[in-house]
Amino acid sequence: MNPAPAATTNNASEELKYFLELTGIPRPSGHLARIRKYLTGFASQHGLECKTDESGNVLIIKPGTEEKTIILQSHQDMVPQSLRDFDFENDKLNVIIEDGWIRADGTTLGADDGAGMALMLSALNSLECSAALECLFTADEETGLCGASGIGNSWLSGKYLINLDNEDVNEITIGSAGSADIVSEFIPEPGGEERVYRMTADGLLGGHSAGMIDSGRANAIVLAAEFLSSLEGVKISSFESGTVPNAIPSKAEVCFSCDGDPFAAMDEFRKSIKKRFSDSDPGIETYLEFCGKRTVWSASFTGKILRTILECPNGTIEKDRYGVKTSSNIGIMRGNQDNAVLVIKPRSSDGKKLAELVGTIKEIMAGAGGRTDCTDIFPEWKEPEDSELIGAAVDVYKRVFGRDPVVTVTHGGLETSVLKEKYKETRMISVGPTITGAHSPDEKMDIGTLSGMRVFLFELIGELAENDHYWKRRLRKT
Ligand SMILES: [Zn+2]
Repeated sequence: MNPAPAATTNNASEELKYFLELTGIPRPSGHLARIRKYLTGFASQHGLECKTDESGNVLIIKPGTEEKTIILQSHQDMVPQSLRDFDFENDKLNVIIEDGWIRADGTTLGADDGAGMALMLSALNSLECSAALECLFTADEETGLCGASGIGNSWLSGKYLINLDNEDVNEITIGSAGSADIVSEFIPEPGGEERVYRMTADGLLGGHSAGMIDSGRANAIVLAAEFLSSLEGVKISSFESGTVPNAIPSKAEVCFSCDGDPFAAMDEFRKSIKKRFSDSDPGIETYLEFCGKRTVWSASFTGKILRTILECPNGTIEKDRYGVKTSSNIGIMRGNQDNAVLVIKPRSSDGKKLAELVGTIKEIMAGAGGRTDCTDIFPEWKEPEDSELIGAAVDVYKRVFGRDPVVTVTHGGLETSVLKEKYKETRMISVGPTITGAHSPDEKMDIGTLSGMRVFLFELIGELAENDHYWKRRLRKT
């Protein structure tokens, strides 16, 4: 490949200059001391009030009319993913600008959410308006919304909050899905030692369980369970599939014994799934090999686990006008002779539906004798559709971009859901430039959309600041 020129700050716009500066500051989740120092340093250089808290959050305040306070929010941390060895805790990213896009050389770029931070620094540096700004830089969003969860109830006073962690310039997001991780542990019944085969399902595309759940892509755990349940007298020895609850598992490896020869059944199964998933997973493949003698689970315990996997809801469950409303992802299945663990992630933008779905899944798990725990529970977030902030954002968007925005609810999670629980009266939206491949080494950002977002953001703040009717309803002061 021809070496693309490294990005420089010469001729870069203000927001891009800040963005490039941020790519030089290591900030993987859990290692935010450097970025925190940069932000507090920025505040003192600019003579701005700055607060920090125990969770690692940073709040920089730009003075203005106090009754007109607007909160801008982004997160400090980034997901560290790379194609080869890269020291995310100490090294600057190697950034490349090509064809109007910016990316990093073989690593995540951290536009999620360096883009939001750059826009906020740009606003703190050069936005002139009468409103006061509370610029909130949260810690460790990517590892479970930790910073946002730790924010005190009286840290913020703004009536409006603009979250800058959206990845599509065409959208104004007004809601997000709630989710939970359901973890169930089973103690296997031993079934003796038998001749064992290893089946592998591979070449599936997988993907994020929020964005790709409705893609029709195959789930490797479900595929393996379907194949095994088609065999007579099947007994599992080990099951390995899935890495995190919020990704569709793209590979499965299962060792098992069965009555008779499974090779003919595997040929049939391979043919049928290649046909079934020819559009969504064109590279799908299965393999089968004999792998010696091993201890296996009993046939009844094996049957229980397979039925549990196949009974649990997986994929899109319900849609509404914004897209997927309720879904479930069977994310991890791991088992050996000591234990078996199944992890499922349900999501819904309707809190009642989520609670129902969690109940259904727990019931199925309990029926199979699993010890079940529900962790990482995040609430849904839904803005009232007549919110003055949404109206203002749509009007300003049309003015700035010359087209209608897509007003939408994301099936993913956002920090606004956690912030809304503490600041119920605050009106919120989420916007941002176009970023593709976030959380992967393919991550890149459309530079033009970052500049477009800056114009939009500055105009929207100006619109809110200069019109008193946005401020008539007083917020309760804490
Ligand atoms: Zn993010």
